[in-house]
Amino acid sequence: MPELPEVETIARGLDRRVAGDVIESIWLGQKPEPLKSPAREIAAALDHSRISTVRRIGKHIVFDLEHKNVRPTKTRPTQAQWIVHLGMTGRLQVCEPQSEVLKHTHAILKLASGRELRFVDPRRFGRLSVVRAGGFDAGGIEPLEADLDRFISMFRGRKTPIKSALLNQKLLRGVGNIYADESLFRAGIRPRRRASTITRDQLAGLLASVKEVLREAIALGGSSISDYVDADGEEGFFQLQHRVYGREGEPCLVCKTPIKRIVIAGRSSHYCPKCQK
Ligand SMILES: [Zn+2]
Repeated sequence: MPELPEVETIARGLDRRVAGDVIESIWLGQKPEPLKSPAREIAAALDHSRISTVRRIGKHIVFDLEHKNVRPTKTRPTQAQWIVHLGMTGRLQVCEPQSEVLKHTHAILKLASGRELRFVDPRRFGRLSVVRAGGFDAGGIEPLEADLDRFISMFRGRKTPIKSALLNQKLLRGVGNIYADESLFRAGIRPRRRASTITRDQLAGLLASVKEVLREAIALGGSSISDYVDADGEEGFFQLQHRVYGREGEPCLVCKTPIKRIVIAGRSSHYCPKCQK
């Protein structure tokens, strides 16, 4: 499952490649699962629209679309947003029209530049939808934009483990399992600590760690992406060295104590029993 840094990298890569291009036509496949909005609404919003920007909101890729010289109707506003959630195996591919159409291709957009933008998803957990401009609400706050007071207020009175609170998408958008573990390690906080028992200073450290971990991962991801915009963890795509995640039994990089693994709310959590309190 692509996490926030991967989605950010993919959105930036797409913005570089297709912003300013015009969608000349769209083909949608027959499988119903990938379509969260009705096919005709997706087609109406995308057809003959110009892609003004591509950006990330939470773990969604958002294409801002505008229709010029079109009378707005209920199904075709002058501005709309195309929302792509990649699910487990979804990919957005920018390619030449003659390149082979892969199995499990669910959407093909023909672009005025001559290229095609294709949505490929073997396991079909990815979702495509459209909303009116500015109508998309991913819930929660953006971790990279969170200020300290807001961050602290989210955890006030919460008796759940801090790890669960970090993963709660209604609080923070898009912080996934790996990044929650890595952030808690850097902040020296055990994943099972009740959120409400963590001091203001520790939460300040945690917010700084969350931002640091996400920014490092984005910086690494940004350098490894090629013209094939890929989201399923191709080799070299994601290179942040994990300090605790997936390192059960291996020595802590700081104090050499073996890293522990516990399960919190069904998710693997990794921590150093000495460095994290
Ligand atoms: Zn340690």
